[in-house]
Amino acid sequence: MPNSTLLDTIIARLCSARGVLLVGHLAADGDSLGACLGLWHLLRARGVPAYVVGAEKVPARFSFLPGSGSVIVESTGLPDYWDVVVVMDCGDWDRTGLSDALLRREDKNLQLRGEVTIINIDHHQTNRGLLGMAWVDPSYAAVGQQVLALAEQADLRVTPDVATCLYTALATDTGFFRHSNTTGAVLRDAAKLLEAGADMRAVVEHCLQRKTLAELCLLRGALASLTQECDGRVTVMEIPFTVFTSCGVEEAEMEGMIDYARAVPGTQIAVLLRAVQAGITKVSFRSRGNNDVSVVAVSFGGGGHPNAAGCTLPLPISDARAAVLAAVRQVLACG
Ligand code: 5GP
Ligand code: MN
Repeated sequence: MPNSTLLDTIIARLCSARGVLLVGHLAADGDSLGACLGLWHLLRARGVPAYVVGAEKVPARFSFLPGSGSVIVESTGLPDYWDVVVVMDCGDWDRTGLSDALLRREDKNLQLRGEVTIINIDHHQTNRGLLGMAWVDPSYAAVGQQVLALAEQADLRVTPDVATCLYTALATDTGFFRHSNTTGAVLRDAAKLLEAGADMRAVVEHCLQRKTLAELCLLRGALASLTQECDGRVTVMEIPFTVFTSCGVEEAEMEGMIDYARAVPGTQIAVLLRAVQAGITKVSFRSRGNNDVSVVAVSFGGGGHPNAAGCTLPLPISDARAAVLAAVRQVLACG
């Protein structure tokens, strides 16, 4: 159940806004984009000028989302006016990849006309609740599920477009209803979204069954790199920068790759290291049971959930591997 006083305050602020920027995180996923676009449709239907703004263009995988064509890339222009910024699916501004100026000014002429209200809607346990008016609740499987709770509390109609966006958020963040965050409430909410007209087949087709040639090329490289540590309790995949560039992939095409490492029987923690630029390595962690990988990710400046977390290290892939595996060994007490 949502904290209704906080939620009512957030709803009142959103509905009285004269311009709302909705932002997710870098390397947008189904939850950050689905939640932003779901709330975008809800606010616009209510007559509130709202804009989804990102640092990067929408990945091709998500271009089926209703409204994705209206997403604004910061570098190509911003709306004339806003007085509220909603940060979704992350807990610190750096993760949005957007410039700080969006939080300080209200129009492109840099004329400050009152405070910008920052609202943070997130479900990450590692979120410390320091970003503005923060509604952070890890009992939700996805921010899209929080947006559905907001719509219900505010009595806003969930149209088929809203439902498709929120269903995408819920389906992708639960691994299509397979992760341990798939509660009864999640399935009831998914049912509500289907009944509201969510295009379930489009979500499955684009987010689960679509594999581009570039992605399969990358998968080939990643599978070839599989190694194990800690007597098979840790399975590691690596994607060097050369493989990344020769396959020509987009970040969103990485979805699900780490699941192959996690799938190997005996694996307690799976680690995927990929060189996103020379000297910069993005690390993903997945775990089974009580092995909390968010602690490891936080220790390297990242975050996430107990069984799925990530971080970015300013190190070449081999150094990043040594650093994160030392921390992973500590979690598993395997010297
Ligand atoms: P993935 O491995 O799929 O990129 O991310 C797994 C989870 O960890 C997601 O919930 C994602 O938001 C979070 N996560 C991944 N990378 C980072 C990071 O660099 N910082 C923070 N705070 N969270 C991250
Ligand atoms: Mn999420």
